Amino acid sequence: MGHALVLNTTYEPVAVVNARRAAVLVLRGKATMIQANGGILRSERIEIPLPSVVKLQRFVRVPHMRTSPVTRTAIFARDGFRCQYCEGPAETLDHVQPRSRGGGHSWENVVACCRRCNLRKGDRTPHEWGRALRSTPEQPSRFGWVYARAGRRFDPTWEEYLELAG
Ligand SMILES: [Zn+2]
Repeated sequence: MGHALVLNTTYEPVAVVNARRAAVLVLRGKATMIQANGGILRSERIEIPLPSVVKLQRFVRVPHMRTSPVTRTAIFARDGFRCQYCEGPAETLDHVQPRSRGGGHSWENVVACCRRCNLRKGDRTPHEWGRALRSTPEQPSRFGWVYARAGRRFDPTWEEYLELAG
């Protein structure tokens, strides 16, 4: 069924809901569909396309979001569930600058990693190991909560909305 990103009238992300709920918002005229996910919601009387992104019809005031906690799900989603060294499936978290050597548990120092790379890298920096990161780890603007909230259900097409609003 999938999940949908809900945007404010200003195009700022305000929530992640399941696609069925987003479809109901569209049906009730509370939101417009920006992007479909390819699925169809069927009931006895209606068939409506399931959204992956909707935009609210009326502006909602959103309380200031705190910075997102650096969780496994959030980091995996940010890194596309790929090891940032070999691009294999992500299985663990790696501290780029090892914790034992003062590396912090921050968005900028934690990446998705497979077990094999994590083991091989050990207590070294990528430079010492002789491997490069696929991309520089960054805090995903102020919408890191979207990654944390969606986890596995994060839809890569949402990236552009996070960047637009970031
Ligand atoms: Zn790897």
